[in-house]
Amino acid sequence: MNRAAWLRTAAIVTCLAGWSAAPAPARAAANPFQAASTLPFQAPRFDLIHDGDYQPAFLLGMKAQRAEIQAIARNPAAPTFDNTIAAMERSGRMLDRVSETFAGVYQANTNPTLDKVQAAVAPLLAQHQDAIYLDPRLFARVQSLYAARATLKLDGEQAQLLEVYHQQFVHAGAQLSDADKVTLRHLNTRLSTLETLFQQKLLTATKAGALVVSDKAALAGLDPAAIDAAASAAQGRGLTGKWVLPLQNTTQQPALQTLENRDTRKALFTNSWLRAERGDAGDTRATIAELAQLRAQKAALLGYPDYASYVLYDQMARTPDAVQHFIAQLVPATLAEQKREVADIQSAIRKDGKDFQPEPWDWQLYAEQVRKARYDLDQDQVKPYFELDTVLRDGVFFAANQLYGISFKERKDIPVYNPDVRVFEVSDKDGSPLALVYFDYFKRDNKNGGAWMSNFVGQSHLLGTKPVVYNVANFTKPAAGQPALISFEDVTTMFHEFGHALHGMFADQTYPTLSGTAVARDFVEFPSQFNEHWALDPIVFAHYAKHYQTGAPMPQALVDKIKKAARFNQGYALGEIITAAKLDMNWHTIKPAAPQQDVDRFEAASMDRMGLDTKDVPTRYRSSYFLHIWANGYAAGYYAYLWTEMLDDAAFAWFRAHGGLTRENGQKFRDMILSRGHTQDYGPMFRAFYGKDPDITPMLRHRGLIPGDE
Ligand SMILES: [Zn+2]
Repeated sequence: MNRAAWLRTAAIVTCLAGWSAAPAPARAAANPFQAASTLPFQAPRFDLIHDGDYQPAFLLGMKAQRAEIQAIARNPAAPTFDNTIAAMERSGRMLDRVSETFAGVYQANTNPTLDKVQAAVAPLLAQHQDAIYLDPRLFARVQSLYAARATLKLDGEQAQLLEVYHQQFVHAGAQLSDADKVTLRHLNTRLSTLETLFQQKLLTATKAGALVVSDKAALAGLDPAAIDAAASAAQGRGLTGKWVLPLQNTTQQPALQTLENRDTRKALFTNSWLRAERGDAGDTRATIAELAQLRAQKAALLGYPDYASYVLYDQMARTPDAVQHFIAQLVPATLAEQKREVADIQSAIRKDGKDFQPEPWDWQLYAEQVRKARYDLDQDQVKPYFELDTVLRDGVFFAANQLYGISFKERKDIPVYNPDVRVFEVSDKDGSPLALVYFDYFKRDNKNGGAWMSNFVGQSHLLGTKPVVYNVANFTKPAAGQPALISFEDVTTMFHEFGHALHGMFADQTYPTLSGTAVARDFVEFPSQFNEHWALDPIVFAHYAKHYQTGAPMPQALVDKIKKAARFNQGYALGEIITAAKLDMNWHTIKPAAPQQDVDRFEAASMDRMGLDTKDVPTRYRSSYFLHIWANGYAAGYYAYLWTEMLDDAAFAWFRAHGGLTRENGQKFRDMILSRGHTQDYGPMFRAFYGKDPDITPMLRHRGLIPGDE
């Protein structure tokens, strides 16, 4: 998942008692964010919200929360948990409503107006956060409660909340001198501006980087549906008679798996590789060099040796050393596998009657040929068994029903921000209303790349709110009237994002700051990656993988091939992620005194030190288009995908050892992990479920890098 950094911080300071009574409701066109939505589950009023409503709502929402926070800070009564900590949790309701709705729409369905709102509001939100966390009177109240915490008779969740608030204040600079606080405010404002700038440049770069093809012959190898999609993508851009291959946000592009023309492959790969390094409006290099330098300076100001140390303080891993040690353990088995795979690719090229050395734009095509030779598995053979709607209902929903007893009903009456979006109401095991979940699966030019989940409304008993969550992806939209036949990778993405949705929907917290997916980055991908495992569970798979025309189940031989093929090319797959994770760590362990880096030179030096084959296996994201770390809150956090893989493989091994897909197992996982939010530290939470600490063995086994059943 990826979530805007400021969305997470906005969720920290939720908000305001009595705001709805403040302005007279007599004015004709009240801002739709002013009061809680009256729709079921307080779903956003996409039927009433106009683009012009966001910016005023942000300003009003910040103003309202500032007043609430002032009242808490100036309260003449001695600090209590309720008049300070719980009061902060109750504050900022309007700001929450607009932040959460805007973040969802901005990331999935932006336009020039929303871009301007984001650019204008992001630095104001950063200042707003600072005004709260750098208010000395407020910190004095938190500090005095923290000092007296042993005598306050707090329950477990309250004690954790006080701990988290205290940490956040200290982490945000509450203990700095006044002069240093001014410096910090300037740094935060500039950082926020740069993050927004990066995101907007990258969207421009990615759109401009699409490969335009004038000669259909250059697309040889693509299936007819992909060629049709390329033709309609061209039409959408006013390029009738041509074909357009839009860029995905990763280095490698899906079409490279089948494009037979080497020049086309090279052109598509090069467009991807250089998308944000063209010296034009989409060039991000100056932005990220400044971001990295200012982040290091911010860490130094707050007493940390580097930005990674600053970020990791509240993560499960805790320190950059722990991360580097974890990654180092993965390198030897990965490198050994990469060497075997390069030899396979080279011999596939020879078998094809060619004599060139493999380049990165050749890898996907020849890996697919090796895969076919070895497993006889062709994407075109499997896609007819993965019709999106069937996968959703009979796979994703079915697995959740078997494990957790929950059920789903489509709600066509809930307004959406784009006609592609679908909404379902989720009922708990006893039939009571649990949540709303939105799905926005198809790629659009105005949508960020990748896939993610977040909340339109967060769960909180204090605020009386139930979860409203959404899943977004970038699957190829079929031509009108055609079924959406997706790859197994897309199927896995659906299960993944739905795992996040479950974590959000099962939230059972009093306080919004600790609720649901508001957990550490190196824990938040654990429920989602865990949920991926059910895609290949024999019972679940048989239930959804049916031919879209005949309804026939997938032949067992093909199922076996998919399972075997899931372990194919893992030197590449793991390598490109390790490389990105280390690149991220390298950018965020730059010393504060270091000069601004030359991005290309820094990246090249990082690649040289990887201990992996980075020539044949290029990084999954280059620095210049690494959205996760520059704008989406994953700075010094990309390793989290690997760390949580260690957790999910261990947890799934536990399920297998205890009978697999059962209500009992699901209930235990819901009770001990999915419903816990951040009410506990992650190490003890995991140990309580699993019985011991995780290690990398189940993970390496699952990837087939060491022998044995996962
Ligand atoms: Zn995720």
